Amino acid sequence: MERKEQLYTGKAKSVFITESKDHLVLFFRDDTSAFDGEKIEQLDRKGMVNNRFNAFIMERLEAAGIKTHYERLLSDTESLVKRLDMIPVECVVRNIATGSICKRLGVEDGLDLQPPTFEFFLKDDERHDPMINDFHIRTFKWATDEEVEQMKVLTFEVNQVLSGLFREAGMILVDFKLEFGRFNGSLLLGDEFTPDGCRVWDVETREKLDKDRFRRGMGQVVESYELIASKLGIDMAGPVTG
Ligand code: ADP
Ligand code: UDP
Repeated sequence: MERKEQLYTGKAKSVFITESKDHLVLFFRDDTSAFDGEKIEQLDRKGMVNNRFNAFIMERLEAAGIKTHYERLLSDTESLVKRLDMIPVECVVRNIATGSICKRLGVEDGLDLQPPTFEFFLKDDERHDPMINDFHIRTFKWATDEEVEQMKVLTFEVNQVLSGLFREAGMILVDFKLEFGRFNGSLLLGDEFTPDGCRVWDVETREKLDKDRFRRGMGQVVESYELIASKLGIDMAGPVTG
């Protein structure tokens, strides 16, 4: 399926309409941003790596019974997805405390979180994605109560599936962000799951392998994404079928 005109452009991906009203093309760019778009750089090969990474993860989630928008790879940097009516909130699960939760609550960086914790954030860069709760979502009608419950259940299911996958490959899935949207009356996982939107540490050394390398200017960002991918057995050069 060919991409037509651009629908919108985000910080890391561009979204195109197709001849099917129910589908979109996600184009993964090399642009990498942090701090709500304050720091932006082009990182060679990142679009390709994230497109392939996301495809692998979405296929694993589908295989585990979690419904996603993902249809198929169209090229090295493009994927075909179902067009969702996106819910403007980010769902974050944390297995280990790091990043914003440490600043907000003063908890020790690296603390094991048992049970894992969950947070909603409003997708609003201008306001620095403020943390919100179920009541805000209900009052401002960003989603129904049923959708709120489904987002929580599905995000923890994703955590269950992916934590195991990363653990078996010698890594810890520290935390991650998901976005959901509506399609023909059901809630599907949308957007992406890549090292841009999660934290992954080496299980032995606890070395950071994800976008924190970019946020902190540690270098070897895309190389590190490729290392995660190779540990997970993701084939970056496999055929694009369809
Ligand atoms: P950001 O919005 O954070 O700048 P991106 O650069 O990743 O992020 O932009 C992708 C945009 O596409 C996001 O706004 C995301 O919510 C949206 N999106 C992702 N998947 C779908 C989908 N299946 N249908 C409609 N919109 C989607
Ligand atoms: N995250 C994301 N997009 C955002 C905010 C957070 O993908 O707009 C991811 C981030 O990569 C991490 C998790 O969500 O895996 C939790 O991020 P946190 O709240 O600690 O924010 P940060 O420290 O990145 O500001």
